Amino acid sequence: MLENDLHHALDNQELFVEYQPQINLQTGYITSVEALVRWRHPEKGLISPGVFIPIAEESGLIIPIGQWILETACKQVKQWQRAGLPSIKVAVNLSLGQLFQHDLVRMIQDVLQRTELESQYLQLEITESMTINIDHMTTMLHLLKDLGVTIAVDDFGTGYSSLSYLKDFPIDCLKIDRSFIHRIQTDSTDKALVDMILSMAKHLRLKVVAEGIEEVEQLSYLIASHCETVQGYLFSKPLLPIFLQENYDSIQRNAQNILEKLNVVEG
Ligand code: C2E
Ligand code: MG
Ligand code: MG
Repeated sequence: MLENDLHHALDNQELFVEYQPQINLQTGYITSVEALVRWRHPEKGLISPGVFIPIAEESGLIIPIGQWILETACKQVKQWQRAGLPSIKVAVNLSLGQLFQHDLVRMIQDVLQRTELESQYLQLEITESMTINIDHMTTMLHLLKDLGVTIAVDDFGTGYSSLSYLKDFPIDCLKIDRSFIHRIQTDSTDKALVDMILSMAKHLRLKVVAEGIEEVEQLSYLIASHCETVQGYLFSKPLLPIFLQENYDSIQRNAQNILEKLNVVEG
C-alpha cells in the first residue's frame, strides 16, 4: 500500500527535505548540513525515511526520488548562499539503487549545472553495503570525484565490508555511526572502536563526522579525542530550511556556548 502511495508522493508534493547542521568543534561554526528526506503522507502523517527509502529502493522509485532530493538540496544551499549565509556544504545520501543508475554521474553533473551550485559544496554519502562491488564502485567514485564533489562513508563500521576498500576508493570522510557514540561513556568496547576509527581516519587523512551526539559527555569525549565535526540533537535536530535560515545565527551561537562551557571555543 505504501509503495502505491509513494508513486504519487513526488507529484503530490508530499516529500520534503530537512537539514541537520554539522558543527566544527574547533570553531563552533556550521560547516555543512545533511539533507534528510521526509514524507508527509496525506492519511498516515509523517513517515520516516527508514521506512520508505527501502520501499523506494525495491520499487525503483529511488531513481526519481533520489534525483529530486539531490536537486532540492543543491538548490537550497545555493539559495542560502544568495541570501548571504556563509557558504556551507550539503551532504546528500545516495542509496544502492542510485549507484547502479547508469547515468548517475551525468545526472549529478546536470543538477549541479542547473542549480549553479559549485561542486565543492556537495558531499555524497555512501554506505558500506555499497562497497561490495569494488570494481564498479571504484570507477563510479572516481568519476564522481572528477566532478569536484566529495565522498563520505555513512554509518561507518556497521557494515560487513572489508576495510581494504578504504585503499581503493577515493573517500574524503568517515561518518561514525551513532550506535558507537551512544554508549561511548559507559561501554569500553564502543570507546575503543571510536578511538580506533578516529586514529585510522587521521592516518589515512580522512575527515570525520561523529553522528548522533545527544549529550555533553559524549561531546567532551569526542573533543578530547580530537574529533573534527559532529552532528546530533545536542546541537540541532534536522530542520526545515526556512527555520534554519532564520535561526542560523542563534543555532551557531548556541553551539559556541556549549563549546565555550567545555573550554574549546574562546568566549
Ligand atoms: P543517516 O543518513 O545515517 O542519517 C542520520 C539519521 O540520524 C537521521 O535519521 C537523523 O535524523 C538521525 N539523527 C541525527 N542526530 C541524531 C541524534 O542525536 N540522536 C538520534 N537518535 N538520531 C539522530 P532519519 O532522518 O530518520 O534518517 C534515517 C536514515 O534514512 C538515514 O540515516 C539514511 O540512511 C536514510 N535517509 C534519510 N534521508 C535520506 C535521503 O534523502 N536519501 C536516502 N537515500 N536515504 C535517506
Ligand atoms: Mg547520512
Ligand atoms: Mg549515518
